[in-house]
Amino acid sequence: MAAHRLRDLLRVEPGSKVRLAAIDPSDTHGHNKSAADKELADGLVRLAGLQDRLWAEAKHPVLVVLQGIDAAGKDGTVHHVMSAFSPQGCPVTDFKVPSALEMSHDYLWRVHQHAPGKGEIAIFNRSHYEDVLVVRVHDLVPKMIWKQRYDQINDWERMLVEEGTTIVKFFLLIDRDEQRKRFQARYDDPTKRWKFKMGDLAERGLWDNYVAAFEEALSRCSTAAAPWYVIPANRNWFRNLAVAEILGDVLDDLKPAYPVIDPSVPADLVIE
Ligand code: ADP
Repeated sequence: MAAHRLRDLLRVEPGSKVRLAAIDPSDTHGHNKSAADKELADGLVRLAGLQDRLWAEAKHPVLVVLQGIDAAGKDGTVHHVMSAFSPQGCPVTDFKVPSALEMSHDYLWRVHQHAPGKGEIAIFNRSHYEDVLVVRVHDLVPKMIWKQRYDQINDWERMLVEEGTTIVKFFLLIDRDEQRKRFQARYDDPTKRWKFKMGDLAERGLWDNYVAAFEEALSRCSTAAAPWYVIPANRNWFRNLAVAEILGDVLDDLKPAYPVIDPSVPADLVIE
């Protein structure tokens, strides 16, 4: 049994400087693969119960952000962890290359409209962080523009939190060799090859630039209001159970409860 909550072990302390090379992407923090299936199954049952109460109560919006380099496992996390939730009340948004309409607005415009309502758990598969990641790595806007965005993102997230939203951000960490294996496996599998794009290899060539961009986003935008968690993600089973445990702890803190029953409903009603 692991002694510490992963929430405490994996959180990026606000104000600290993240160096990804110092974090082992294969770390499992005392968890074992042999017990992982049971642990994850228990974690998913817990999440399902929490979401049921959260949705019934309709009091708290929850925003979950997923980021990571290509093939880090964002889709797999949605599939294997968020599957605990009823799709009603759990909208998933994939943020792709912005459309012409989206590009004609500020970068938070398209994001804000997908922020969760009360009782919802909104999942962002990629997010507003792309605007300090791919945008920075490819010089899609001048440096003086993207440099300002860290503070803007913190301000925007703080506003959401002050208005009642709970924000939890997961960065899935794999290493370069694990990405190579995953790309190769994707390419080799006829049911997965559609996911493989030649452009993925060009992005892979920019690995160090992405690492620098991730490190700055994690260092500058892990706040008390909206912390980042760095999830060692070379092993899918650990990634899944870590995300499930942390999310469970975060939802638990909200103490979601079924609404009080309308006093006009009698206690001993038998419906004919
Ligand atoms: P997946 O998320 O499964 O990798 P795609 O292969 O369609 O899906 O990739 C989406 C692409 O959209 C990524 O390359 C990502 O960097 C890009 N993207 C997302 N947001 C932005 C943005 N704001 N500006 C430019 N590109 C973006």
